[in-house]
Amino acid sequence: MELIHIKDVTKEYKNGVTAVYDLNLRIKKGDFAFIIGGSGSGKSTVIKMLYREEKPTRGEIVVGGLNVAKLRNGKVYKLRRKLGIVFQDYRLLPKSTVYENVAFALEVIGAKSDEIQRKTLKALEVVGLKGKLRNYPDQLSGGEQQRVAIARAIVNEPKLLLCDEPTGNLDPDMSMEIMKVLESINEDLGTTIIMATHDQNIVNKLKKRVIVLKDGRLVGDYEKGTYVHEDI
Ligand code: ADP
Repeated sequence: MELIHIKDVTKEYKNGVTAVYDLNLRIKKGDFAFIIGGSGSGKSTVIKMLYREEKPTRGEIVVGGLNVAKLRNGKVYKLRRKLGIVFQDYRLLPKSTVYENVAFALEVIGAKSDEIQRKTLKALEVVGLKGKLRNYPDQLSGGEQQRVAIARAIVNEPKLLLCDEPTGNLDPDMSMEIMKVLESINEDLGTTIIMATHDQNIVNKLKKRVIVLKDGRLVGDYEKGTYVHEDI
């Protein structure tokens, strides 16, 4: 089953920069796909269009049956509930505990308190942080902070997890820890994962699908790929 279909998508920003040209891509349910490419190749723009932070200038994007570009502003929440997002810089609430940071994602959608507790503890267990519920973000390592951000992104049990350079601020050991967490989310929960990265080490180790962008164009798409220099 297909979860994402990007059809003939071009994105031109207001300043005249064309960040993505004529992109066609299909992602199946349960896939784990890296989007790689040099700085400015359009990776973030693709991710942003998937969660409707940006709209394509031309073309169509379907995510879980929703026509993303055509979605009215008042209906964007329907898309956002299908997905979780993880950024390079964690974006945690500094004055809230680990537990509160994750629970907040359920509070804002009006979940009941027993459901909030059950799902928050489960998500923190998945990322291996059940022992740090009462810690504040500044009492955690970078890798742990990113794991809190991942727990927050999956707490609502989304079908899709979008990650934009999630290991960009982490050393190689912590990066591998994060990747183990993402792999188990993909394998055990069945969550589809799309991860933009320029971390060669990780891409080469995990041997997942590799989608290569160069100057906004798709120049490679490999099952069980590696970080391909000549394409970038
Ligand atoms: P990557 O994530 O691969 O580094 P981006 O998608 O961030 O690439 O950027 C692709 C191109 O679009 C770059 O030339 C960048 O400068 C440009 N760009 C990105 N965001 C904006 C924006 N909000 N307004 C104008 N140009 C942008």
